[in-house]
Amino acid sequence: MSAPHHQPAKTDKDLNIQQAILQQLESLQAAGICDLPRAAPLAQQPSPPTTAKTIASASQASDTAITNPSSHAKTEPLVSSTSRASLSDDSLSAPSPLSCEQREQQLTILNKEVEKCTRCPELVGNRTQTVFGVGNPNARLVFFGEAPGADEDKQGEPFVGRAGKLLNDIISKGMGLQRSDVYIMNVVKCRPPGNRNPSGAEADNCRPFFERQFEIIRPEFICCLGAIAATTLLETNVSIGRLRGRLHEYRESLVLATYHPAYLLRNPSAKKEVWKDIQLLMAEMGIRKT
Ligand code: SF4
Repeated sequence: MSAPHHQPAKTDKDLNIQQAILQQLESLQAAGICDLPRAAPLAQQPSPPTTAKTIASASQASDTAITNPSSHAKTEPLVSSTSRASLSDDSLSAPSPLSCEQREQQLTILNKEVEKCTRCPELVGNRTQTVFGVGNPNARLVFFGEAPGADEDKQGEPFVGRAGKLLNDIISKGMGLQRSDVYIMNVVKCRPPGNRNPSGAEADNCRPFFERQFEIIRPEFICCLGAIAATTLLETNVSIGRLRGRLHEYRESLVLATYHPAYLLRNPSAKKEVWKDIQLLMAEMGIRKT
């Protein structure tokens, strides 16, 4: 039997299939799979919508109640915490010529350069290893700290000590995201001795590395943790107390500055200020925690 010549534009069945595909794609993205091989089109079948369009249109449909309060924010569809997978979706990120795979490759190549770097003699003599960065190369949000501490130096990953646990709480309990949704890195990639602050010269030495990381990831949002990260990125002498509570710009990214989690461990009363900053960031990102 031949198929009818005229099909309705969208049947309930079509919409159900579209929804099932969307859910499957979101699950794959949540598992870190960013790209899928494109299958050859089947003869006499209409081409399916592209992955990006499917996710974007479904996000728009399901998130129509969420509005972006900022005129700064980009015009992509906004997401709620219930559609976390779309935080790393290319269709919602700033346009980039790099695929997820290419970003991963370029970060790996850059990491190899960092591992060989000897620009800061005192840090090189003190480090166990370099601490490059970790997370989703497609992330909309990068957390930017100042330097590795003892735990980070030992494990080769940023924010894994007590301050890291607090950052994890901010990400998961506060924002309703997962650590793997975001990217986390520091100004300098080597531990300063005695956990002192990195010097201006050391931050300048490492600037080409963190700038390249931002170029590759191209996040929509950067959250600077502490004064060193904020003043280095924004190239300002303004205090963290005056930088926090509002948004700044770095290239294509909107930047929020807030207190470092290590400062919160020493001054728990400042947590409420950080929570206010994080709520501002969530509103800008269109994240509404359920
Ligand atoms: S802190 Fe950065 S610039 Fe200095 S030695 Fe380490 S990787 Fe090189």
